Parts: sequence; structure tokens; C-alpha cells
Amino acid sequence: MEECMSMDELRRTLRARSVILRHARPPLHIAIWTTHGLERKVTQALRQHRVRLAALLAVSDVRTCPAPGLHRASFYYKGQGLYICGDCERLARWVEKRVC
Ligand SMILES: [Zn+2]
Repeated sequence: MEECMSMDELRRTLRARSVILRHARPPLHIAIWTTHGLERKVTQALRQHRVRLAALLAVSDVRTCPAPGLHRASFYYKGQGLYICGDCERLARWVEKRVC
């Protein structure tokens, strides 16, 4: 059986390909924004790490920020070991009002 990507490897791959993940309804679902297809190993890894990724996306955790180089100034510490991307948080709220 093909070995699946680790969560870190998956996040690096998605960033390198400008893939944006978004928390979606129902809970623990993920919307994928990309302008091109994803390889099978990437979709398998997304499936494998979906629950953990969805939980991070739900709170705009910095680990799911697709553009840390651009958003870093908005990062803030929320407490309990949680670092949030303020820009992703604002985008998620904006999308939530218009798409969901
Ligand atoms: Zn961000």
C-alpha cells in the first residue's frame, strides 16, 4: 500500500500549489479551492487528515493558513496553545456570510 503524506508534508504541498482549504458545512467537511486538479496521493492525504484539518480550519489555526508570508502580521495568540491567522479568520467570516 502506498504510504500516505504526513500532515506537515500535505500542508507544504498545498501551499506550494496555492490550494486553499476552507472549513465547510456540515462540520468536519472541507471545501477545496484550487485552479487545477490534485494528484491522487494529495486527495488521499486530504481524506486521511480531514478531521484534524477541519478542526484547525474551523478556528483559522495558523497551520492551515495558505499564505503565511502575506498573513503573518495578522497572526495572534488566542490562548491554550492556539495561534490564529486573523486574515484567514476574517476571510472565513466573510465567506460564511456569502457562501454557506
Ligand atoms: Zn492566513
